Amino acid sequence: MRIGTGYDVHRLISGRKLVLGGVMIPFEKGLLGHSDADVLLHAVCDALLGAAGLGDIGQHFPDTDPEFKDIHSIRLLARTYKMVRARGFSIINGDITVFAEAPKLSPYKEEMKKNIAQTLETDPDCINIKATTTEGLGMIGKGEGIGAMCVVLIH
Ligand code: MG
Repeated sequence: MRIGTGYDVHRLISGRKLVLGGVMIPFEKGLLGHSDADVLLHAVCDALLGAAGLGDIGQHFPDTDPEFKDIHSIRLLARTYKMVRARGFSIINGDITVFAEAPKLSPYKEEMKKNIAQTLETDPDCINIKATTTEGLGMIGKGEGIGAMCVVLIH
């Protein structure tokens, strides 16, 4: 068994769609990035890559590569998992925390879990998603960005 962690933050700006966990969420702002900037899925990718000893997301999907411009991060997750599988690993479980002042994420958690579980060929019960605010403190508290961290166990 091996464990990995992932952490990511993206800036929130006007004029972008908000995508978290592969779910389009109605909100006045979206995350800025080369891909769809799905910060939650990026944290999951990095946790998987870390657990498998495969480096990090920036190394495999550089934000200078036009191939990944505006790509749905669920595709990055699928490609990540393919690399993890090629090393002979599969996932046991993943635990994700999203840091966001707004919007409320509880209505979308089940769909996010389903998206991730499907991509990682596992049961939604093996994926846990938590959301928290930072009590108005710092860049996330001021609504300037959204962060996410993830821990995965693979075998
Ligand atoms: Mg990212």
